[in-house]
Amino acid sequence: MTSEGQVPRSLSNVRHILLVLSGKGGVGKSSVTTQTAMALVNKGFNVGVLDIDLTGPSLPRMFGVELHQIHQSRAGWVPVTVYPRTETRGSLSLISLGFLLGSRSSSVVWRGPKKTAMIRQFLSDVVWTGTLDYLIIDTPPGTSDEHIAIAEELRWAQPLDGAIIVTTPQQVATADVRKEINFCKKVGFEIVGVVENMSGFICPHCAECTNIFLSGGGEALSKQLDLPYLGNIPIDPRFVEMVETQSDENKLIDLYEKCELKPIVEGMV
Ligand code: ADP
Repeated sequence: MTSEGQVPRSLSNVRHILLVLSGKGGVGKSSVTTQTAMALVNKGFNVGVLDIDLTGPSLPRMFGVELHQIHQSRAGWVPVTVYPRTETRGSLSLISLGFLLGSRSSSVVWRGPKKTAMIRQFLSDVVWTGTLDYLIIDTPPGTSDEHIAIAEELRWAQPLDGAIIVTTPQQVATADVRKEINFCKKVGFEIVGVVENMSGFICPHCAECTNIFLSGGGEALSKQLDLPYLGNIPIDPRFVEMVETQSDENKLIDLYEKCELKPIVEGMV
């Protein structure tokens, strides 16, 4: 464990750290991580993404770099570059356990201490290129060993900006979101805000948004608990196309540019 007041070596050049949390799986935590990262990259920031969802790492597939590998250098693990920095955009690099697994169907059956050790390594032994403006950490659903490991490791690491809580209109009424919020309070994580994902469906033909599930619950919950509300992201078939198509770097950017949710997410960051 990092001793008191000591920032893990690989985080010393990181300006902001954000955690993405959700009470349940499938509500769009990895999607919000992907969208937030792309929005920040488009604004010119250098972004690192750390996928600590050890049992279901989906970010290599979402970023279209599933067949890539992370390399071990003398200084530590070298992340996969999703986008290099250009004149108009920042860079995006990714570390995920998914790169260390043999195939998409390989699974991790690890007890808590092994997961904790892996997370420690991810936080301390990664050689992020240059200075990262943002490190976004995608976590598993709920409050598991991975969350406790992150809480212990980041306790002394400045600058941990805090957690983004992702919910859907249906999930908002359940106890899981509140549990997540209580967890943050217990371990001393600031809450950056709540995002309501899958909040309505944008028709690709007429661009009208239909609220399939009731929407607005995320905002009501934020008000009730006195938390900042970051906004609602609709279901966007273009985003599904983007993450389901194995694309090269340029195609991915191109598909992202066409997403209806892009201006919404970019308005949030
Ligand atoms: P989680 O990380 O919470 O388990 P994911 O981000 O993997 O959830 O999302 C589950 C599925 O829903 C993925 O296939 C993803 O592409 C899709 N999805 C999530 N959010 C949206 C959205 N706003 N529009 C379209 N599809 C979405």
